[in-house]
Amino acid sequence: MSMIARLFAGLIAWLQGLFGPRPLRVQFIEGDELPATLPAGRLVVAREDATLWSAGMVCPCGCGRRLEVMLLEGVKPRWDLRLNPRGLPTLHPSVWVKDGCQSHFWLRDGLVQWCGPER
Ligand SMILES: [Zn+2]
Repeated sequence: MSMIARLFAGLIAWLQGLFGPRPLRVQFIEGDELPATLPAGRLVVAREDATLWSAGMVCPCGCGRRLEVMLLEGVKPRWDLRLNPRGLPTLHPSVWVKDGCQSHFWLRDGLVQWCGPER
Protein backbone atom coordinates (compact mmCIF):
# COMPACT_ATOMS: atom_id res chain seq x y z
CA MET A 1 0.00 0.00 0.00
CA SER A 2 1.29 3.45 -0.80
CA MET A 3 1.90 5.97 1.94
CA ILE A 4 -1.11 8.04 0.85
CA ALA A 5 -3.39 4.99 0.78
CA ARG A 6 -2.20 3.98 4.22
CA LEU A 7 -2.82 7.45 5.60
CA PHE A 8 -6.25 7.46 4.00
CA ALA A 9 -7.13 4.04 5.46
CA GLY A 10 -6.01 5.28 8.83
CA LEU A 11 -8.19 8.36 8.49
CA ILE A 12 -11.23 6.24 7.57
CA ALA A 13 -10.65 3.96 10.56
CA TRP A 14 -10.36 7.01 12.80
CA LEU A 15 -13.59 8.51 11.45
CA GLN A 16 -15.40 5.19 11.88
CA GLY A 17 -14.17 5.13 15.45
CA LEU A 18 -15.59 8.61 16.00
CA PHE A 19 -18.96 8.19 14.32
CA GLY A 20 -19.51 4.46 13.94
CA PRO A 21 -21.12 2.18 16.45
CA ARG A 22 -19.05 1.75 19.55
CA PRO A 23 -18.24 -1.86 20.30
CA LEU A 24 -19.20 -3.27 23.67
CA ARG A 25 -16.19 -3.91 25.83
CA VAL A 26 -15.95 -6.74 28.29
CA GLN A 27 -15.74 -6.07 31.98
CA PHE A 28 -14.99 -9.06 34.18
CA ILE A 29 -16.21 -9.14 37.75
CA GLU A 30 -15.18 -11.68 40.36
CA GLY A 31 -17.91 -13.99 41.59
CA ASP A 32 -20.90 -15.97 40.35
CA GLU A 33 -23.37 -13.12 40.12
CA LEU A 34 -23.71 -10.00 38.03
CA PRO A 35 -24.09 -6.61 39.73
CA ALA A 36 -27.60 -5.22 40.14
CA THR A 37 -26.82 -2.34 37.81
CA LEU A 38 -25.01 -2.96 34.54
CA PRO A 39 -22.94 -0.16 33.03
CA ALA A 40 -23.88 0.98 29.51
CA GLY A 41 -21.49 -0.01 26.75
CA ARG A 42 -20.20 -3.02 28.63
CA LEU A 43 -20.72 -6.74 28.51
CA VAL A 44 -20.25 -7.65 32.16
CA VAL A 45 -18.98 -11.17 32.72
CA ALA A 46 -19.15 -12.88 36.11
CA ARG A 47 -16.05 -15.01 36.54
CA GLU A 48 -14.97 -17.08 39.51
CA ASP A 49 -11.37 -18.25 39.14
CA ALA A 50 -11.38 -19.74 35.62
CA THR A 51 -15.12 -20.43 35.57
CA LEU A 52 -17.32 -18.13 33.52
CA TRP A 53 -20.80 -17.94 35.04
CA SER A 54 -22.86 -15.48 33.11
CA ALA A 55 -22.76 -12.35 31.01
CA GLY A 56 -25.06 -9.38 31.17
CA MET A 57 -25.72 -6.23 29.23
CA VAL A 58 -28.32 -3.53 28.92
CA CYS A 59 -30.66 -4.31 26.00
CA PRO A 60 -29.25 -2.55 22.92
CA CYS A 61 -32.71 -1.56 21.63
CA GLY A 62 -32.83 1.21 24.21
CA CYS A 63 -35.64 -0.26 26.31
CA GLY A 64 -33.23 -0.35 29.24
CA ARG A 65 -33.95 -3.87 30.39
CA ARG A 66 -31.18 -6.08 31.58
CA LEU A 67 -30.25 -9.10 29.50
CA GLU A 68 -28.43 -11.99 31.08
CA VAL A 69 -27.11 -15.14 29.45
CA MET A 70 -25.52 -18.16 31.10
CA LEU A 71 -21.96 -19.10 30.14
CA LEU A 72 -21.58 -21.96 32.59
CA GLU A 73 -20.77 -25.37 31.09
CA GLY A 74 -23.57 -27.87 31.34
CA VAL A 75 -26.54 -25.54 31.83
CA LYS A 76 -29.23 -25.04 29.23
CA PRO A 77 -29.60 -22.73 27.52
CA ARG A 78 -26.04 -21.51 27.52
CA TRP A 79 -23.94 -19.24 25.33
CA ASP A 80 -20.37 -19.32 24.13
CA LEU A 81 -18.30 -16.23 24.76
CA ARG A 82 -15.22 -15.55 22.65
CA LEU A 83 -12.94 -12.57 22.71
CA ASN A 84 -11.15 -11.49 19.56
CA PRO A 85 -7.53 -10.29 19.62
CA ARG A 86 -8.77 -6.79 20.45
CA GLY A 87 -10.67 -8.18 23.41
CA LEU A 88 -14.07 -7.58 21.82
CA PRO A 89 -16.75 -10.14 22.68
CA THR A 90 -18.73 -12.49 20.44
CA LEU A 91 -21.70 -14.42 21.83
CA HIS A 92 -23.07 -17.59 20.28
CA PRO A 93 -25.94 -18.24 19.66
CA SER A 94 -27.92 -15.03 19.15
CA VAL A 95 -29.73 -13.29 22.00
CA TRP A 96 -33.51 -13.31 21.66
CA VAL A 97 -35.79 -11.50 24.08
CA LYS A 98 -39.03 -13.49 23.93
CA ASP A 99 -41.24 -10.88 25.58
CA GLY A 100 -41.34 -7.11 25.85
CA CYS A 101 -39.17 -5.50 23.17
CA GLN A 102 -38.54 -8.88 21.46
CA SER A 103 -35.03 -7.85 20.49
CA HIS A 104 -33.18 -10.49 18.52
CA PHE A 105 -29.55 -9.86 17.72
CA TRP A 106 -26.08 -11.31 17.40
CA LEU A 107 -23.22 -9.84 19.34
CA ARG A 108 -20.16 -10.14 17.11
CA ASP A 109 -16.82 -8.54 17.90
CA GLY A 110 -18.58 -6.25 20.33
CA LEU A 111 -21.10 -5.01 17.75
CA VAL A 112 -24.84 -5.66 17.77
CA GLN A 113 -26.16 -7.15 14.54
CA TRP A 114 -29.94 -7.15 14.48
CA CYS A 115 -31.89 -10.11 13.18
CA GLY A 116 -34.93 -9.50 11.05
CA PRO A 117 -36.08 -6.04 9.97
CA GLU A 118 -33.57 -3.21 10.28
CA ARG A 119 -34.06 -0.83 13.18
ZN1 LIG B 1 -34.99 -4.04 24.43
